[in-house]
Amino acid sequence: MIAPELLRTAPMAKESDFYTIATLGSHSALQILKGAHDEGFKTLAIANRKTERLYRSFAFVDEVIGIESYDDFPSVVPQLEQRKVIMVPHGSFVAYLSLDEHKRMSIPYFGNKAVLDWEASRELQRQWLTRAGLLVPRQFKTAAEIDRPVIVKLYGAQGGKGYMFVRDAADFERRASELGRENYILQEYIIGVPLYIHYFYSPLSGKLEIMSMDRRYETNVDSLGRIPAAAQEGMDVSPSYVVVGNSPLSLRESMLAEAYRMGEDVVRVSQEICPPKGLFGAFCIETIITPDAQFYIMEISARIVAGTNLFIDGSPYSYLNYSEPMSTGRRIAREIKNALLSNSLDAVLDDSGVRN
Ligand code: AMP
Ligand code: AMP
Repeated sequence: MIAPELLRTAPMAKESDFYTIATLGSHSALQILKGAHDEGFKTLAIANRKTERLYRSFAFVDEVIGIESYDDFPSVVPQLEQRKVIMVPHGSFVAYLSLDEHKRMSIPYFGNKAVLDWEASRELQRQWLTRAGLLVPRQFKTAAEIDRPVIVKLYGAQGGKGYMFVRDAADFERRASELGRENYILQEYIIGVPLYIHYFYSPLSGKLEIMSMDRRYETNVDSLGRIPAAAQEGMDVSPSYVVVGNSPLSLRESMLAEAYRMGEDVVRVSQEICPPKGLFGAFCIETIITPDAQFYIMEISARIVAGTNLFIDGSPYSYLNYSEPMSTGRRIAREIKNALLSNSLDAVLDDSGVRN
């Protein structure tokens, strides 16, 4: 067999065959592995007992490693470190592995782990976004300052539940006892249309692409409008944001330039705060657009988001850049392939990982 190192210099060779793209079996794994397969890579899903059969049922999944639960993931890391595997992270990595586990994992990793600290802290995210010139909801330091509707976010709140909504300072005073002793943030509540913009930044070409967009369908907040406000009076319902699915959306074209600008500035600032590589690959800015066409930023996700699953076959936006179906998952694999072809794999991997 020809050494892969030699093949790297031969542009016509299918050296991607020598690498396996792996991910955890959940979230957007099907999209990532289909994309990897379409770009000529071998594919591997690490699945738990519940999902193993599902991943084995797809022809583009070459291999499945079954583990009891995702908590056991660290036990397969040593065997993966011995192989030519590149790990592509998605939302379940953040949900199921701690930040420390994430960083300890020394399998070659698509993305920059240094960004994780900035993403994990609401405060650091805010600094990052404001430095990039993006609008974030106003935060109130004390209850007395509240002069508009506010969402109260408990520090420990997870999974889209555990929020309190208050109208004004007096309303907060009346209900503050419900919060107990937990720490919380008082944030201006933005009323507008939620839009999640999926980007891809290529460290190889230095170019940003808008891949697709979605809006989430969240329960129960997206169904409150089905009960007239008058009928809601006195009912004990409070909004929660538990995601159940996503729907596609195309943005009014006159707003697209600002969407692109925001992505570029987020990447630019990331290169200052996490030098030199900054944020690269797939990421998502979660916005709410107000009637005066302002994008308020709720959050940034520094990896592929599940809303891209709508576009496994490409999106109207990705079609503008590629006249072939180009999902975000496939775009990731294309970047890894381009890196291999130009002998610059390091440019698309985290710096802390051990290389094969
Ligand atoms: P899961 O692997 O489905 O448990 O999801 C892992 C994380 O990704 C959770 O925090 C979910 O809230 C988030 N997530 C999963 N599916 C979606 C989706 N379709 N849209 C938005 N977020 C999602
Ligand atoms: P978070 O806990 O910040 O991830 O927020 C969960 C959900 O609440 C998001 O999907 C947003 O749609 C919504 N949300 C969070 N903060 C605000 C805000 N300041 N104004 C309006 N909606 C918000």
